[in-house]
Order: sequence, then C-alpha cells, then structure tokens
Amino acid sequence: MLDTTNRPDLPPEISRRRTFAIISHPDAGKTTLTEKFLLYGGAIQMAGQVRAKGEARRTRSDFMQMEKDRGISVSASAMSFDFNNFRFNLVDTPGHSDFSEDTYRTLTAVDAAVMVIDGAKGVESQTQKLFEVCRLRDLPILTFCNKMDRDSRDTFDIIDEIQENLAIDVTPASWPIGMGRDFLGCYDMLNDRLELMDRADRNVVAESVKIDGLEDPRLDVLIPAELLEQLREEVEMAKELLPRLDPQAVLEGHMTPIWFGSAINSFGVKELMDGIGSYGPEPQVQSAQPREIAPEENKVSGFVFKVQANMDPKHRDRVAFVRMASGHFKRGMKLTHVRTKKPMAISNPVLFLASDRELAEEAWAGDIIGIPNHGQLRIGDTLTEGEALRVTGIPSFAPELLQGIRAGDPLKAKHLEKALMQFAEEGAAKVFKPMIGSGFIVGVVGQLQFEVLASRIEMEYGLPVRFEQSQFTSARWVNGERQAVEKFAETNKQHISYDHDGDVVYLTRLQWDIDRVERDFPDVKLTATKEMM
Ligand code: GDP
Repeated sequence: MLDTTNRPDLPPEISRRRTFAIISHPDAGKTTLTEKFLLYGGAIQMAGQVRAKGEARRTRSDFMQMEKDRGISVSASAMSFDFNNFRFNLVDTPGHSDFSEDTYRTLTAVDAAVMVIDGAKGVESQTQKLFEVCRLRDLPILTFCNKMDRDSRDTFDIIDEIQENLAIDVTPASWPIGMGRDFLGCYDMLNDRLELMDRADRNVVAESVKIDGLEDPRLDVLIPAELLEQLREEVEMAKELLPRLDPQAVLEGHMTPIWFGSAINSFGVKELMDGIGSYGPEPQVQSAQPREIAPEENKVSGFVFKVQANMDPKHRDRVAFVRMASGHFKRGMKLTHVRTKKPMAISNPVLFLASDRELAEEAWAGDIIGIPNHGQLRIGDTLTEGEALRVTGIPSFAPELLQGIRAGDPLKAKHLEKALMQFAEEGAAKVFKPMIGSGFIVGVVGQLQFEVLASRIEMEYGLPVRFEQSQFTSARWVNGERQAVEKFAETNKQHISYDHDGDVVYLTRLQWDIDRVERDFPDVKLTATKEMM
C-alpha cells in the first residue's frame, strides 16, 4: 500500500493540472460552456469554433454523419488549455445514454467532474445517471447552473433538488441577482464581489466590482432597490440554511459548490474556472496492481482509457488515449507495454490542444496524450518505465443486447472478422465467436450502437453488413481454473463463444440457465463484467 499520509509535495507542474469531464443532460449547455473554457483558455480566438472544428473532424471520420444527423456526440476527445496558473485537461464525455460504458471509462481518466444543469429544468435524467457513475468513484463535482438569463427556477428550489435527488451537500459559490430578463449577474459569495453581466456583447467578460459585504452603499447604485432587498434576504437565508464551503468535503465528493451563470453570455464561466483551480483536485493516486501509483513518482506510467480507430480513413491508424498516471513524460521515451512485456518507443504522441492535434513534446501526470498505433494498444493497457504495474478499475460490461452479424457478401467473411476485431478492441462493441457454427455475435449496451457499428463497417471497410436475431440475450464471462473452464465449455458447447481476447463467454437467453450453472458447476463463476487488461 502506498503511504498517502506522508507524501512529498507534488512538483508544481503536476499540482497545477486539473483533469476533468463535463457531465450534463443534452441541451443543458455543455458545448457552449466548453467553447467558453477554450476562449478563456486562449485556445481559440472566438467562441463558435469548437462546433465548426468539431464538425470538420466529424466529416473526416465520416461515420459521424449519423451522429450529426441525430445531434448526438458519439466520440470523446480531450482538450488542454491554460488558465491563470492552471493547466486544464478537459475530457469530453459522449453525450448519449446508449454509450454508458464508454462514458464510464472516460470518467476513469479524470479527477473531477463539472455538472452542468439548466436553471429551468434542474436535475434531468442523464445528469442523474452520470452523477451516479461519478459517485462510484467519489469524484469531486463542481456544479454550474446555466441559462440564468432565461426564466429559471427559484434558487433555493434548484439547490434543494440537487441535495435531495443526488444526496450531496450543496454550497452556493455565487448567488444570482434577479432572473430571466431581470438577471443582472451574481454576488460572488466566496470573494465578496459583484459580477455584473453585459448583455450587449456575449463575448465580453462581466464587470467585476469588489464590495464590502452586502451592506456596502455602492450596491444601491448598482442594483435596483427591489432586487437588492431580495438579494440581501436570500443570501442571509442561504448562509443560515446551507452548509459553508468545506474544501475537504468537496475533494471527498460529499459537497458540491454551485455557480450560477449563462454560458452563452460568457457569464459566470471565469468564476467557475477559478473554482476548478482552487477547489478541484490535483492529479490523484491511481489504483493499480500490485501497488498504487502516485503522480509524483519519478518514473512515468499511464493507461489507455479509450481507443479511437480510423480518425483519418486515409491512414488506418488508431489513437490510444492515455491518461498519464505518474512522472514526467518526454517525447521519444521508450515505455514498456505491460500486457505484452514489449518495449514501445513513443515517438509521435499527440496532445489535443483545443481540437488541433499537436505533437506532445512532454506530458505530466494528469495529462491526456494520444498515441497513434496499429492496434497494439488496447483499453485498460498500462505503460510504464519497466515495472509490471497494471492499472485497475477499468471494467468491461456484459452487453445487454445481442445480434448475429453477417457480411452482405458471404465471401467477405474474413474482412468482417477483421473489422469486428478492431471495433472490439476499440470497445465499440463486444464480439463473440461461437464455438459451434459460423458467423459472429455482437453485443452492445444500447440499440443505437448496432447502427453506428453497421455504418462504420460500411464506411471504413466498404462492407455492407446485416444483423440477424440471435437466440441469446445475455452474455457472461466464465472464470475459474483453466481446466474447469475448458471442461465447462466442452459440456455446454451450444452456449459457448470466445471474445476478442479469446476468453470464454457463456451465452444464454434465460436467467434460469445462469442460476443453473452456478448450482451445477461450482468450479466456475459467471460474471457480468471483466477487468480490461
Ligand atoms: P449541449 O447539448 O449540452 O452541448 O448544449 P449546447 O451548448 O449545445 O446548448 C444547447 C442550446 O442552449 C443551444 O441552443 C445554446 O445556444 C443554448 N444555450 C447554451 N447556454 C445558454 C445560456 O446561458 N442561455 C441561453 N438562453 N441559452 C443557452
């Protein structure tokens, strides 16, 4: 076990890093907020470019036409930018609920999440789901209540709803003054400042006035009497009723500070960024076997949490997204690929600065780099400077939907196999090869993934495919001593298949079957998840 009570200070280059994701329900304003982050991070000149660039990238990996048509975001990417003295690494989470496994894995690569909610709608279903995922890892969460320029719900109502639905303490970092058309700005409760919104120009940063408490006479000039009275009353009530900011509780994931603002008006965004810097976590200790990895260790290590293939169809390359877990990486370093024990020279890693890929000359614990490769790197793989460490906690879930898949042209079965193996490695689908018979069975978590898969195979491999109903609906990995697993497979041939790693999988239609196996074959264990390694 790592002794975390007595760790030396983090090198400044590591302690200034904040690696986080945004969780939200579609339409709450994630894209708009991301644009403003990049704007203030100096990564783009003008807001609006993320979308434009995003689309250019999508056209390149053309399966994403579908994503565009449906207005959803299928792929995740990472962006880095500087703000004040901080280096932010923002990892984009796929927005659609069908892609929960991908989202889950993305969240294993971050140290915190920013939860964006729409001030008129409060906590919506997708926010709730993503929040639960963050909770599994006690990720610190900072909340941004967006669209305050529109008619929103009462501030206390919003806070109550978060506290009740998500079972987390909420502390106001700012307090809104008026709402909808009367929304003036916020009182910054942490810094005793008044932030006033400029409605005339959406890209203009709010006027900030340092005040001396809410009795400061300057307020009478700045805020209409009625709103001022309401502000004083509400803030007094808030101070009485709501918990004070406790940085430790935030870091432990028990308390979330909330900022109110309007992303589209660039309002409240800087305060939120300040908040991520001040109260968000530094790169954290990473769980691994046989020991944990601390970010300040001299030796470099990192793990793959996402693989994206065919980002550019002209080059059949894949990019493995690696979260650096420790040390100071320099381009050209030779790292050990722990799963295969082979050395790998990392000569052209990319850093995702805004949405342009750039060569990463160096990276520190907390950063996300992309490593182009030809398929050696898989989700869950660990890279180190030699030590046989394996990062843990990146699961693969049993699919909830299964279908048979065949190439439109039967002579192209080999091609199909190649395509399927690639998507399986990417984590886009589970692929099972039945022990008896021909063909493949693919498994996904949401129906939409079948369509994505079909259109990608057609676009990237020129191979039309069709799906067939499968007699199976559930998949379980078979664990146990090798001999026991083999014996089990022999006696249950009709139900057995192999995943892309060659691991034995039991397919069935009936929960009853699963119970029976557990009763009749005590030597093997069926599981709905497997650790990726
Ligand atoms: P996403 O689906 O979460 O990425 O949301 P978007 O950022 O695409 O925003 C959804 C819609 O809400 C868009 O039409 C935005 O222009 C709009 N929007 C975003 N932020 C604000 C805001 O602060 N105020 C208002 N009125 N609209 C906003």
